[in-house]
Amino acid sequence: MNEHLKNDSKNIGHLLNLIKEQGTAYLDTIEERPTSIVLHHPAEKQELPESGLGTEKALKVFNEKFEPIMVASSGPRYWGFVTGGATPASVAGDWLASVYDQNTQTMKGQGDISGIIEVEAIQLLLDLLQLPGNFMGGFVTGATMSNFTCLAVARQWLGKELGRDIAREGVSGSIKVLGATPHSSSIKSLALLGLGSNNIVRIKIQEGNRESICIQDLEENIQKLNGEPFILISSGGTVNTVDFDDFKAISKLKEKYNFWWHIDAAFGGFAACSETHRHLIENWEFADSITVDCHKWMNVPYESAVFLIKEQYKVLQIETFQNSNAPYLGDPMENFNYLNFLPENSRRLKALPAWFSLMAYGKKGYQEIVDKNISWAQLLGNLIENSNDFKLLAPVRLNTVCFTLKDETRQDEVDAFLEKVNDTGKVFMTPTFYNNHKGIRAAFVNWMTSEKDIHMVFEIMNGIAPLK
Ligand SMILES: *Cc1c(COP(=O)(O)O)cnc(C)c1O
Repeated sequence: MNEHLKNDSKNIGHLLNLIKEQGTAYLDTIEERPTSIVLHHPAEKQELPESGLGTEKALKVFNEKFEPIMVASSGPRYWGFVTGGATPASVAGDWLASVYDQNTQTMKGQGDISGIIEVEAIQLLLDLLQLPGNFMGGFVTGATMSNFTCLAVARQWLGKELGRDIAREGVSGSIKVLGATPHSSSIKSLALLGLGSNNIVRIKIQEGNRESICIQDLEENIQKLNGEPFILISSGGTVNTVDFDDFKAISKLKEKYNFWWHIDAAFGGFAACSETHRHLIENWEFADSITVDCHKWMNVPYESAVFLIKEQYKVLQIETFQNSNAPYLGDPMENFNYLNFLPENSRRLKALPAWFSLMAYGKKGYQEIVDKNISWAQLLGNLIENSNDFKLLAPVRLNTVCFTLKDETRQDEVDAFLEKVNDTGKVFMTPTFYNNHKGIRAAFVNWMTSEKDIHMVFEIMNGIAPLK
């Protein structure tokens, strides 16, 4: 055995202690770590060591080269994109997932009961989101893969409606997909699925500074299809303005027309945790499939997301993802195996971080995280609305603030302003374009964020924005 490997295995306790100490030091000071850094030189080429360095030396190299440039993306003022943090319990679960190193496939207990943990985590999540038990789900790397998984089953469903088995025969003929403001990852999924990213039928959005689907235009487009089945991609929280499609109206349409209803609720689905905002997702349980990200508002480390697909489609789902060439025989549940149920074959114990966090903080814990983030968005929104230099580009509907410089003549300064703000390293926000304006987005999904963070950032903004 390689000397280093032998030594490392003897000293595993010491090594894990080093990592524990380093991890603790990082997490204890994450509020002071910069949210972005400027890289001056490209990294030098690293040679592969002939017989290795051993873990302790490798850690030293890592700490010299990379540790200092790690940004606090799981800290309280990283408001770019929709970037979640990691709760202590989820970090604990994540570490253990590596220690146990199970391959999540079966539920037979043959050296692998991680499928059982996964099913249980899905049930806990359904409880949290107040969704009925007739959804089945699994863990994938992110909402992108979740959208892909859901739309793959939708494609199989649609083929069946037209008398084809697309999983076996491939895509032929046209497949109608409708949507108003689908996330870019759904468009990417259409490309991957051979449905063609250009082929989506764009439905109008509602009038009045909205991003949600216009139900009347949707119905008119449905009628043009003359009864042809189709896939509807709807939004449970758009990224710019966190707008929600009218799920009540869509569930009514579903009684009249034959379509697969997919909801991308990557982060917006967590509105379910809030008494005051639950109405936004009312009737979402009538969808055929739902995408939810755990590494955003649930504050589980990357890579964690789930797909939720109605149990009635389990055969279609297994047809789509079955790993064996033999036709499926008998009840697919009897030999339930995750590798026949989602894109990947081998997977780590993906459900464990989410399981730990759900068990550790429960319904009330997540309600508080969600409600607090909503209140931070409202606070920043109010400060902006009453300021001299900024204005909102859209109302604050949930947890995101979309704003710009108030002075219309300063549109070309928005990017430079944002760059200056981000360069302080105290906060990170991302640029956007909305309603013919250059804008800035601040998305609140981190459990650590507190009121002082909002005031600190608003002060920084006010120090930079005025015309100099
Ligand atoms: C973030 C996001 C995605 C993509 O999620 P990943 O986890 O990055 O793959 C898809 N849809 C919505 C609405 C999102 O916010």
